[in-house]
Amino acid sequence: LPQDFQVAQPILETIEAAGFEAYFVGGAVRDALLKRPIHDVDIATSAYPAEVKALFKRTVDTGIKHGTVTILDHGAGYEVTTFRTESTYQDYRRPDKVTFVRSLDEDLKRRDFTINALAMKADGTIIDLFDGLADMQQQRLRAVGKPFERFHEDALRMMRAVRFEAQLDFSLEANTKAAITSNHQLLTKIAIERIHSEFLKMMLSPHWATGLQTFIETKLATAVPLFLPYQAQLKQALAYDGVFANETQVWVFLAWNLGLTPDKLKKGLKTWKTANQVINQSELTLQLCLTLQKQPADIDWVLYQSGAQAVRDGLAVLRQVNRIDSAQQQHLQQIYDTLPIHCAQDLAVNGRDLMAAGLTPGPKIGQSLQQLQRQVVAGKVANQPKALLAILQN
Ligand code: ATP
Ligand code: MG
Repeated sequence: LPQDFQVAQPILETIEAAGFEAYFVGGAVRDALLKRPIHDVDIATSAYPAEVKALFKRTVDTGIKHGTVTILDHGAGYEVTTFRTESTYQDYRRPDKVTFVRSLDEDLKRRDFTINALAMKADGTIIDLFDGLADMQQQRLRAVGKPFERFHEDALRMMRAVRFEAQLDFSLEANTKAAITSNHQLLTKIAIERIHSEFLKMMLSPHWATGLQTFIETKLATAVPLFLPYQAQLKQALAYDGVFANETQVWVFLAWNLGLTPDKLKKGLKTWKTANQVINQSELTLQLCLTLQKQPADIDWVLYQSGAQAVRDGLAVLRQVNRIDSAQQQHLQQIYDTLPIHCAQDLAVNGRDLMAAGLTPGPKIGQSLQQLQRQVVAGKVANQPKALLAILQN
């Protein structure tokens, strides 16, 4: 039994001692079998939420309506969820009703993919009702039950499919893939925040290109904001490998391939309900990439104005799309790192100093500070109060 499960073993045993069934389920079982890092250990049980709560001292009603109780144990939290079935998904996403059941089989049947529908007993025995272990062996992602129905009842599963492909380096089983293609339009019914979250997990995975390829081939890429008119350009992005360090790199990389202007990117990211901070940073970073492309004479100033994060991300993207090689990347990073100052606060004088030196308060102060930064960054004056005030006098 992997370490993460060992510490949770007593929880299963307590539930079992009370006459109920309890199993480890979901992503943790999958990841343990694949020897991948485990995040949350989820437990499924035949006990109803009230019955679970009666067995443990410290519990939290995290999702009691859906049957989930969190058990607090030695600083860790374990989500224990009552076996349940889900019925009639009217909005292609949330089940209208969850029904608690006493059978593990029913619970496993509602899960999305066979590799996510494995259960593990306290002694480590695996329960594999849908040949999930064989699929795992073949690195295959296959829907539990009838794929068409499963994606029709919950369209978010289509995004989960491409995300798991990318995370695990699996490929979609043919019928599962065909069912996504048939249902791709239903993705438009899903909240963009949910799509965004899965899309990002996909792009931040080592095998993002595998997921992105399926995302394009199944036409999911035509059912999300921004990408529809750019299918051919999106395909070009598949030619590159390498991983992305953060969300900004992902968007700037995609924008580069799509040929978006910074403004178009900004508008597109709003439709994806991306965080404002990421939108601003992506716009700035794309602008930097486009400017560097033109080999500007005042490169120090361009880098200075972009800031540390945009420089790092912009260079990473330019490297990824082979516009610069790694020596150039290091060289440009070095130029930035060794600038005499990196922001207005680094300047040896501030607005108050300028007023004390006789400048009249007003917009002139800001302009002078900007001038000084430019001169310092260009290496034309030392970053010392005396030297700075002296050039203002002229
Ligand atoms: P992650 O590593 O991202 O946590 P996970 O497989 O654990 O992956 P969760 O969203 O944590 O994903 O869900 C836990 C389990 O619940 C899944 O393994 C799967 O069995 C089931 N599940 C989650 N979302 C769905 C869904 N939309 N449809 C069917 N089953 C789902
Ligand atoms: Mg999980």
